[in-house]
Amino acid sequence: MKEKSYIVQNIDKGIWKIPAGSNIYLLRLDEPIVIDAGERSKRKEAEFIEHIIDPRMVRKVIFTHLHYDHIGNFDLFPNAEFFASEEEIESFKKDPEGTVLNKEMAEKFQKAELKPVSRINNPKIEIIKTQGHTKGSICIYLREQQILFSGDTIFKEKVLGRTDLPNSLPEEMPKSLMKLINYPFKILCPGHDY
Ligand SMILES: [Zn+2]
Repeated sequence: MKEKSYIVQNIDKGIWKIPAGSNIYLLRLDEPIVIDAGERSKRKEAEFIEHIIDPRMVRKVIFTHLHYDHIGNFDLFPNAEFFASEEEIESFKKDPEGTVLNKEMAEKFQKAELKPVSRINNPKIEIIKTQGHTKGSICIYLREQQILFSGDTIFKEKVLGRTDLPNSLPEEMPKSLMKLINYPFKILCPGHDY
């Protein structure tokens, strides 16, 4: 039976998934952190976050990359700092629409003050640079729980993310996949459930 798209799933202790165009992950570590913000038109689903936590409590939102379907509900978190890779931030500054792949969303997202992921100071979170799907795509690894948040780099059943988009770097994808071998994840949390 196909699950209803709006159902919040508890993935592991303190980790929830909210499907909203792309998956939003909510992590209650020592501070509440969100990974990716879903697609804007799926705002209703995104508001399911409120069943778990007051969105105003979220301190950090980490974007695996800046495609429109991963940043859509960024302003649901008024008190959060926003993080993306240096490459992704640079790409957005140079060409907002080409980075976000949606004009309206690119304009809205100008409001977000982006900080480089290197400034995230949380020993539980490891950032892995995985160029390919985009110039600045990252994966996020929780070593303690052995959970990998893979954005659009890999999906379940060995399905890989697209590398034919305007800001993709297809030649980097094999290297990125080799890097991920070093991360023995027990749970994969991809950007989409393809
Ligand atoms: Zn993407």
